[in-house]
Amino acid sequence: MLIHACGKNLLYAYGYSLPLHHVIADDLLRIAKGEVLGDSWSRQAYSVDASHYEIQPAAAICPVDSHDVEQACKYSSEKKVPITARGAGTGLLGQSLSEGIILDFTKHMNRIIEIEDDYVVVQPGIVKGVLDRELKKRNKFLPPDPASSNYCTIGGMIADNSSGMHCLGYGNTIDFLEGVDVVYADGEPGFASADRFDGRMEKLGKLLSPHADAIKNGYPKVSKNSCGYRLDTVMSDRFMPHKVFAASEGTLGIVTCAKLRLLDIPEYRCIMVLGFVDLLGAVSAVPAILKFSPVALEMLDHTVLSFGSRAGGTGCLLFVEFAGDDSKKIEDRLQACKEELAGKCSVLEYASDEQSMAKIWRARKGALNNVMKLTVGSRKPIGLIEDTVVRPELLADHATNLLQTYRQNKLDYVMYGHVGDGNIHTRPLVDMGSDKEVDLMRRIAKSVFEQVIRSGGTITGEHGDGLARVSYIEMMYGRHITDLFSAVKKLLDPAFMMNPGKKVPVQ
Ligand SMILES: Cc1cc2nc3c(=O)[nH]c(=O)nc-3n(C[C@H](O)[C@H](O)[C@H](O)COP(=O)(O)OP(=O)(O)OC[C@H]3O[C@@H](n4cnc5c(N)ncnc54)[C@H](O)[C@@H]3O)c2cc1C
Repeated sequence: MLIHACGKNLLYAYGYSLPLHHVIADDLLRIAKGEVLGDSWSRQAYSVDASHYEIQPAAAICPVDSHDVEQACKYSSEKKVPITARGAGTGLLGQSLSEGIILDFTKHMNRIIEIEDDYVVVQPGIVKGVLDRELKKRNKFLPPDPASSNYCTIGGMIADNSSGMHCLGYGNTIDFLEGVDVVYADGEPGFASADRFDGRMEKLGKLLSPHADAIKNGYPKVSKNSCGYRLDTVMSDRFMPHKVFAASEGTLGIVTCAKLRLLDIPEYRCIMVLGFVDLLGAVSAVPAILKFSPVALEMLDHTVLSFGSRAGGTGCLLFVEFAGDDSKKIEDRLQACKEELAGKCSVLEYASDEQSMAKIWRARKGALNNVMKLTVGSRKPIGLIEDTVVRPELLADHATNLLQTYRQNKLDYVMYGHVGDGNIHTRPLVDMGSDKEVDLMRRIAKSVFEQVIRSGGTITGEHGDGLARVSYIEMMYGRHITDLFSAVKKLLDPAFMMNPGKKVPVQ
């Protein structure tokens, strides 16, 4: 739809009919210093991410600096060509796919600009794993740790509000974001932090202030949420305009630089792996384990385990990590937790040295890669309901509901996730070549989302909305809050050129 509208505009503007992508690529070559990729191989490479969608862009550009980004955005705005930022393309819902121009930050804009005791300033294209290694040399860390850390970028993590295995103890990307430099849809540069912000952010404050109460009451009370725009964090005790870019999927501005808070690496860490007979036994134990304040509490069900390391007869594993600076206190906590769970599970593994812990975590980290391998032809593990969050005390009911749904519909499935946060990753295996099964998937999604929303949870904790979930956002927040999302979008991107079709329906 969009590309046809753009096509008409461009052909009209230029008055000749070269294939659209050639025109765009040629124009970009004239205005930007970075590489412009308009050949069919490159366009094919940028047409996919880690989702099941495929959309071929008109051209891609690897900006060398923020001036290149400004030029590209100005061009997008003048010629009405959509523009979409891209990190590593590990988004799971089609977030970085677009028919317009792709801005690939991984090639040049991937540097650390400044590391201080309690913060780091980076360009968006830096890979999280690369940053982790630099921070470790200084005994620091940035806690959000997606399983994709070895590839994904900080720009993508901000835009998706990514989390990971240790976010239970420390918080999600949005909690560590302290400031951003951005380029707006018309190519104008901007900046935002709690202390300093530009005129557009001032307008954002004026737009949202009258709705402060509705915003405060309109969001789920769970520990992680990537659905819609996070206006609740923007309008927290203090006005935090930079937080509007977290979870915004590049629809409000392109981040060219970000400041993130750092923590000291704890002196002592230890982990135990608990084996339960089945998934319901494991998730039922979560509230009891949380009383001991673990920094990570993760689950791998047999549906995922059977494709990785098997767990000697147990049906479901929980990985529980404790951390802090006093080794005795930490070990005491682990011991007390073990005692509380006596008779309900067996302790399969324990480790407190770095190497063994890393080995244990690798088993959990590989879960989604193992799941992806289950694809056979058009029968795929489909990710629409893969990221729901409920309060941990409701986890057992939620899991029961999911299992019943799969059983009733005779669907194979996988289940794992960040259960300490009430965040279950689950995918049914669905034949996308069958209209009947696609329709079934939609019906299941509607019913699961309705149940999660009714229980005060969110339909996505860390993976975001992308193309797959944009149509469910109103169901999640209702009309008032989604009208505010549209108003924010219109304020910052009135022509809907920034990553259109994500977060707010195209108008
Ligand atoms: C195997 C696997 C495991 C995963 N595990 C986890 C996990 O444990 N936890 C988790 O939270 N997620 C996980 N993910 C999802 C994904 O890795 C994260 O969402 C990740 O942060 C995306 O980063 P990226 O660099 O790949 O971004 P991309 O996918 O390239 O882009 C994501 C979004 O960010 C926007 N964006 C990128 N750069 C900018 C910028 N400079 N300015 C504005 N917007 C920008 C894009 O437009 C897009 O909307 C996993 C994915 C895979 C494939």
